[in-house]
Amino acid sequence: MSKYRQEGKLSGADRQEVEKTDGIRVFHRCGGCGKKQEFLNTGKFRVNANGNNVDIWLIYRCKKCKHSWNLTIYERTKPGKIPTELFEAFQTNDAEIAAAYGRNIDFLKKNNAELK
Ligand SMILES: [Zn+2]
Repeated sequence: MSKYRQEGKLSGADRQEVEKTDGIRVFHRCGGCGKKQEFLNTGKFRVNANGNNVDIWLIYRCKKCKHSWNLTIYERTKPGKIPTELFEAFQTNDAEIAAAYGRNIDFLKKNNAELK
């Protein structure tokens, strides 16, 4: 068990409660609307092989027009440097891991998200 899994010990009901109370609202300039909008975590990752490296993003969508915004998790990184379980979580769109990134202030700020 990796540390990523061990953090996710909540039951479904508890987790919903956490999402409600712990949710961070994310704002970003939307390429579709042409202005700042709230973006929602889709819970989906995008993994893109690029030679010997991979890029991994978590996809958000504009609440108004559904325009997508990819937030960088790993950029041109050797797959061997990514913990195996975490890499699997990206490939299977693991909901707990996606929610954990959605609460990760450093990750959101690195992607120039505006938080509320
Ligand atoms: Zn939009």
